Amino acid sequence: MLKRVWWKDDAGNRFGAGLMEFHVITLFPEMFESTFRGGIIGRALEQAKITIRTHPLRPFGLGNYKQVDDTPYGGGSGMVMRVEPLAAAIETVASANPGIRKILLTPQGEVMNQSMAREFANRGAPLMLIAGRYEGIDERVRSLVDQELSIGDYVLSGGEIAAMVIIETVGRLIPGVLGNPDSLNEESFGSGSLEYPQYTRPEEFRGMRVPEVLLSGNHARIQKWREAQARERTAHRRPDLAERKS
Ligand code: SAM
Repeated sequence: MLKRVWWKDDAGNRFGAGLMEFHVITLFPEMFESTFRGGIIGRALEQAKITIRTHPLRPFGLGNYKQVDDTPYGGGSGMVMRVEPLAAAIETVASANPGIRKILLTPQGEVMNQSMAREFANRGAPLMLIAGRYEGIDERVRSLVDQELSIGDYVLSGGEIAAMVIIETVGRLIPGVLGNPDSLNEESFGSGSLEYPQYTRPEEFRGMRVPEVLLSGNHARIQKWREAQARERTAHRRPDLAERKS
């Protein structure tokens, strides 16, 4: 049985005590605990391969009500996150974690991809993930961060799920987190293309048979088939990736 290493401290919830650290500034720290209780990331936390620490934004809010948002200058719908609480949270976390990379989560940022995830994992520097809420954040927050990242061309209600996506994507690339690290090279985007088709038992399902080559036991033939399938699939489904590779 693996021992659980979750605990809480004054600055927020701290899960695990691993090599790669993720610090999330958020109004909803409780969202993270349930998400990362199980699966590969849950095990990585238990084995102290990664650390996830949430830093609640609310205590940095202003006045008796710990206000973190306000109406937009110039009018318009919704509320905007104020710069002062975010600045205080970002600076507090940064001063306790030298070398941390400050990342603002926004649909207007550079779109996250697998090679960025690999770079973060290889560098191993702690990541600060700043989750927005409401209609958006005061533009001046942008001057306080190193990078702006989006997880795709759509709009979420908050940055928490985007932070989870980044933690999951980078976390599984940390050495020792995946049982079989070879799978990282073979899976989609690992070598710049999509993965080949996979099959397991039964040999036949509703008339659909497993390709004969996979049952042949001839590893050279299997390898060649898989490479050809991956190429074909990438060219068909993601011509943009195929073009980047050639
Ligand atoms: N009004 C903003 C705009 O149009 O750019 C969107 C605000 S969104 C409702 C609230 C927060 O969700 C953002 O501040 C950001 O932190 C997060 N968010 C929304 N979509 C995202 C995406 N695709 N990637 C990363 N974060 C996102």
